[in-house]
Amino acid sequence: MFYPLATLFAAQTLTRPAFTDADVRALCRERYGLSVAEVSELSSFQDQNFKVTDEAGRRFVFRVDNPGWPASALDLQNAAMAHLLARDPAFPIAHLVPGLSGEMMPRVTRDGAAFPLRVFTFLPGRLLARVSEVSDDLARNLGRVAGTLSRHLGDFGHPGTDRISQWDFQHAPRVVGEFLPFVADRALRADIERTLRRFEADNGGGPLLPQLRTSFVHGDLTGYNVLVDRRPGEDWRVSGVVDFGDMTHSYTLSEIAVVLAEGVMNRAAHPLAAAAEAVRAYHAVYPLTEAELAALFHFVCIRLCVTLTSECQQLSLEPDNAYVREVFEIDRRMFRALLAVDPAHAHATFRHACGLEPNPQAAESRQWLSAHRAEFASVVDVPIEAPLPVVDLSPASELWRDGNWMTAQACRRAVSERLRDGYGLGRYGEARLMYSQTNSAAEPGTVHLGVDVFAPAGTPVRAPFEGVIERVEGNRLCLRHGPGLRVVLGHIQPSVRAGERVARGQTLGAVAEAATGEPLPAHLHIQILCDDLANSPALIPPSEREVWLSLCPDPNLVLGFDNLQPAPFTPATDMAARRFRTIPRSQEFYYERAPVQIVRGWRQYLIDSGGRAYLDCINNVAHVGHSHPHVNAAAARQMARLNTNSRFLYDSMMTYSERLLALLPEPLRVVFFVCSGSEANDLALRLARAYTGQHDVIVIDGEYHGNTTATYEISTSLLDNPAEGKAAREYIHPATQPNLFHGPYRFGDPQAAVKYADSVRACVERIRSKGRRPAAFFTEALLGSSGGIDLPNGYLPAAYAIVREAGGVCIADEVQVGFGRVGSHWWAFEAQGVVPDIVTLGKPMGNGHPVSAVVTTPAIAEAFARATTYFNTFGGNPVSCEVGLAVLEVMEREGLRANALEVGRYFKTALTQLMPTQPLIGAVYGLGLYMGVELVRDRASAEPATEEAMRVADRMKQRGIIVYPTGDHYNILKLKPPLVFSRADADFFAGQLAEVLSGL
Ligand code: PMP
Repeated sequence: MFYPLATLFAAQTLTRPAFTDADVRALCRERYGLSVAEVSELSSFQDQNFKVTDEAGRRFVFRVDNPGWPASALDLQNAAMAHLLARDPAFPIAHLVPGLSGEMMPRVTRDGAAFPLRVFTFLPGRLLARVSEVSDDLARNLGRVAGTLSRHLGDFGHPGTDRISQWDFQHAPRVVGEFLPFVADRALRADIERTLRRFEADNGGGPLLPQLRTSFVHGDLTGYNVLVDRRPGEDWRVSGVVDFGDMTHSYTLSEIAVVLAEGVMNRAAHPLAAAAEAVRAYHAVYPLTEAELAALFHFVCIRLCVTLTSECQQLSLEPDNAYVREVFEIDRRMFRALLAVDPAHAHATFRHACGLEPNPQAAESRQWLSAHRAEFASVVDVPIEAPLPVVDLSPASELWRDGNWMTAQACRRAVSERLRDGYGLGRYGEARLMYSQTNSAAEPGTVHLGVDVFAPAGTPVRAPFEGVIERVEGNRLCLRHGPGLRVVLGHIQPSVRAGERVARGQTLGAVAEAATGEPLPAHLHIQILCDDLANSPALIPPSEREVWLSLCPDPNLVLGFDNLQPAPFTPATDMAARRFRTIPRSQEFYYERAPVQIVRGWRQYLIDSGGRAYLDCINNVAHVGHSHPHVNAAAARQMARLNTNSRFLYDSMMTYSERLLALLPEPLRVVFFVCSGSEANDLALRLARAYTGQHDVIVIDGEYHGNTTATYEISTSLLDNPAEGKAAREYIHPATQPNLFHGPYRFGDPQAAVKYADSVRACVERIRSKGRRPAAFFTEALLGSSGGIDLPNGYLPAAYAIVREAGGVCIADEVQVGFGRVGSHWWAFEAQGVVPDIVTLGKPMGNGHPVSAVVTTPAIAEAFARATTYFNTFGGNPVSCEVGLAVLEVMEREGLRANALEVGRYFKTALTQLMPTQPLIGAVYGLGLYMGVELVRDRASAEPATEEAMRVADRMKQRGIIVYPTGDHYNILKLKPPLVFSRADADFFAGQLAEVLSGL
């Protein structure tokens, strides 16, 4: 049955039912035996929905349908829902509740019209439209739900309905045509017309229609018909699919097309990537055919045309309808974003998501190019002998040093040095470091889709094959050979015009001079586009690599340089799998779910194999910045001259110890050089035990001090020491962690420091009760390993006095927090106003070179000497000492302690300012550039937001920031960046964190 359009939309002129709350109460009682406690009306355009709660607290939706709907339409809905529930009782749709008469849909007569009544069980959740950002997980969940619908409705039989929906894709072109005149905005109208024509063109969705499967479809999985819900800490999941009112028998593909257009892509940070996730999940439940994959993007576009034109029509009737206007603006933005996507690219992306070769013509194109290689004319004549040097521009390349990729001039100079007489080759598929971007939330385009032929400016460039010049845009032209094959030549001074037909071997122009700001010397960029791809970027983000490489095959298939291979590429997941084969699982590993392969560090950035620069917020080891040239030079110089053990006499050992001691207060006057923080703490324990003749140690609960047997015993961190953490040896005594946010004494308690110190006193008393005395009180002065927790003022003075009074020595572990990081002082203990008896130093000391130290008093050192000797092969070797000295020099020269103070304060303020709008932030801890952001589900109870913290870390990584959760509950984001961190970095971090938290 087919209705003319006038009838098609007749339903819109039907009047909505107008039942009151009192009517609903009465009808519920009479027809359903429900005694209603509460009623509230929900929104609906043409029908009425009420949320009803009965006396027993059960919730229902009471629905009155428009009496204008054909009975067959309502029957179709009820039957389809019953079918779905029979197939999958857990499928998230409402259950229809029978009336007292046993009828599923009793009717009530009013003013001569019979209104059908239905009562449904209530579905929990909120509208998908109210979720600010659709994550990849939610996109997959939506895809799975759409796929499940398609699978179950695939064999649902029903005589059908006379009702025709304007949303049915079968009528889409007609609907758009009919409503187009309502689109007042000329530009939008032109875009819609163009999209409609594209749909109907040879390579559009229209011609594919006969090949598409049909079935009943819900057809309206939009943000307003999908409910989502979540458990604490988890991502949103679909909790309900409602409104089967637009069910039709149509293209099965409609289901996923609608959810992409109006559920996923309009709410995702990366619409096409999120769409691919949804398609992948749909396909896993209900495999798409190749024809469906080819039509899908066109369906998404045409659906938006239907939506936009319908909204314009609606606005012409109700110009003041704010709701329609708001939705229209959202859809229009989405449509604009869609217009920027090449359908061939979207098609390839969807195919890739389904495990197919992205470009359906890729194999054929590659074959054709290989078969005809001998016939292609040489594009650039090379007068020098082969092979041409191949310049490696990848992030790990030897070409790069000291940040030379960051300025065009230095980069060009470095590349020029590798060329021979100005000639050379640049690789296809290569992620290039000079295209990396710092503090960029979006993944930058670093992967090169062409080949570069470096050649002096003026070198003639020729057509490899005959064809038509399709475009000439500045210094770039596109030569089209025939259907499905284009070659793009860039950095060329063209001598042909668009539209010109050219012969094989004909000169098209000459290699252009390198423009100012261009990081490469004069070269020709050559790129091949196949399939229907009309245009392409030259550089794409690494995550799109496989799709684009399939669309743009290797240009060397045309050029034919024997020594030129595409850049090799190993996915980080493959490398992680390789790691697990030989490296034990107990060895900790970051980002197991989506590993990153870091190949380079520079200043406050870590750079992965794809050329993405991550703002490094966790490496306090790279204290003065990754790969600092001054430190590198010192290491290389000394390594080339001499490295040996500390039993020999060499100047740098004394110079370094003197420089270090000048930074420490009396009576800390002697230094032992060792290699790691753990070794330093281990030795500190031996010193304390030798000096006091005692064995018991008081520590702060939850702290970590090292990986040796002795330091592991004193580590009570659940995270780092899950086996022993809370089951400490009887000679290890954890004192209550003085945490003013979630400890027993909190911010605002003026006695907190003393009360926490009382816990140290209790430890002393416990030791005494065993007839012993404490050997040491071992603590950080800023609880770095617990998450950057600053101690209450006066805590250490009080605790130290208690311990010393009992004969113990006080050890400050400055392994994490020392060396000027706290800004106000060189050492965190100074911020508490105490002088320890032993100080241990580590991590930042060698900027990544393993050197550490124990500084103590001559008295303690002498007691130790009387008891034993000490030897450490690598500790304090000449290279370590030179490196350590170089670090101190850089600290001074670059004023990094002052920077830690200034930027640290700024950063802490920026983070604290997020608290009023971000309830998940419970506390911001720390001093200088050592901070912690504790995430909690509730500030009062301080319930740890553990799952959220890991999700935040994952999403921050996607936005180019490395930050990781720590603490006993993995819920504190620890911030301890290299000290070259800037205000701009702090702003970038705080801005991204705010967005990530809001979108969680
Ligand atoms: N002390 C503290 C406070 C630490 O956080 C760590 C390491 N995280 C260490 C000591 C041990 O240092 P390393 O890993 O260099 O042995």
